[in-house]
Amino acid sequence: MSQKLTLQVKDAVVFFITACVSILLYSVNLKEIGFLPVSVLQLVRAAALFTAMIVILEKIFTIKIYNKIFIGLILGVAAGIIFKSSIAEIKPVGDLFIRMIRMIIIPLVFASLLVGSASMSPKKMGRIGAKTLVYYLIYTAFAVFIGLVLANIFQPGSGLPEDIKTGLLNNFNNKGAEVSKLAQQANPIDILLQIVPVNLFNSLSNGKLLPIIFFAIFTGIALTMLPKEKAEPVLSFFEGINDAMIVIVNIVIKFAPYGVFALIANVVANFGTDILMSLLKYMVITIAGLVFLNFSYPPVVKLFSGMKMGTFLKGIRSAQLIAFSTSSSSATLPVTIKTCEDVMGVPSDIASFVLPLGATVNMNGTALYQGVSALFIAQVFSIDLSLSSQLLIVLTATLASIGTAGAPMAGVLMLVIVLEQVGIPPEGLALILGVERILDMFRTTINITGDASAAVVIAATEGELKIQR
Ligand code: ASP
Repeated sequence: MSQKLTLQVKDAVVFFITACVSILLYSVNLKEIGFLPVSVLQLVRAAALFTAMIVILEKIFTIKIYNKIFIGLILGVAAGIIFKSSIAEIKPVGDLFIRMIRMIIIPLVFASLLVGSASMSPKKMGRIGAKTLVYYLIYTAFAVFIGLVLANIFQPGSGLPEDIKTGLLNNFNNKGAEVSKLAQQANPIDILLQIVPVNLFNSLSNGKLLPIIFFAIFTGIALTMLPKEKAEPVLSFFEGINDAMIVIVNIVIKFAPYGVFALIANVVANFGTDILMSLLKYMVITIAGLVFLNFSYPPVVKLFSGMKMGTFLKGIRSAQLIAFSTSSSSATLPVTIKTCEDVMGVPSDIASFVLPLGATVNMNGTALYQGVSALFIAQVFSIDLSLSSQLLIVLTATLASIGTAGAPMAGVLMLVIVLEQVGIPPEGLALILGVERILDMFRTTINITGDASAAVVIAATEGELKIQR
């Protein structure tokens, strides 16, 4: 037997044994296996599970990274459904993955933006900044509009049975009150003022992206005004940091299939199907709207850049899967930047400017979700919203998306502001909190797709898109 074949047989045997051991141990009640402590058995079954996955994904088959992440996601859904709460114990693996990408965000954004803005003329920066904001604002308003149209046509909230309504309000009222309290602390003027940091280190250590972006751009511009011999060492230092962060992204992304697997398995395992059924219409409408948005980007990208629709959709897949499983545009940011630069040919200075801004300012998916949700809650409470109230929703939802972190559940906080503006009782939040996690996954996916589309469009309008396919 050739050596290669022997190795393959060995891998297959290891896969078979570890897969069987893990399936067996996840299917039984560990307490009944008396001869080993439960915690040891938990460790054994998790180790067997990940060994089986590693063998199949890394050794037996040669699979592209996108497909590996996708397989991780599908296996995660299956494991969550089949093994329920016992699989939830692998969540730390998912958390580890999120922590590893999150650790890169701040140094990456700071270094790349500083170097990027030092290499651009102030005129170009102003032009790109203006284009970026206009693109983001128009697309966000469009997204809320689509959400409102869908909710007006399909009326997801009318006819929700009274017992389901009362049940949801009772079950989630405490959580709803907590969220509204948090949201009340955010006032739009303060949000804008907070873009300017008082203490950079405070912003760095709290991971506040907008003040960091502001400071990095300002410092980048200042460096261009210094004599070359003074600016150069600072710039090469940050260039080095930037390159090192990109190397880390490349390493961490290899871990993505396992992280995604663990995150999704945990979400699915903890999710009640009853609530899913009672809010099915609302969920289907929101997701349909988000899917529509997803397919609205490629034509726009094609129009401005000539990039084939398939190239854009295929290119963004890895970042989308990570957004889907982390529910955080910010956590996905390093991968979005890498994808836009490596796969779609966006130059680094534009990507490092447009994308971090997008991760906090541009939330198209969230905006659509807010449109549908505001109307859904109004319909359940039988509040008739006039056209002007609905226009106010477009305005407030668009504005509320600025300055809110690209973090899980951020969209709900913003929704409270929108509800208050049009006089819908914020307690209504309790109606939708049960499916919030699932919808967050979908809307975050769209949020980062919107950011990436902007990066490609803006690079193309500057005549700087490197890859034309
Ligand atoms: N999780 C979303 C994001 O990070 C924001 C939201 O909650 O809608 O983009």
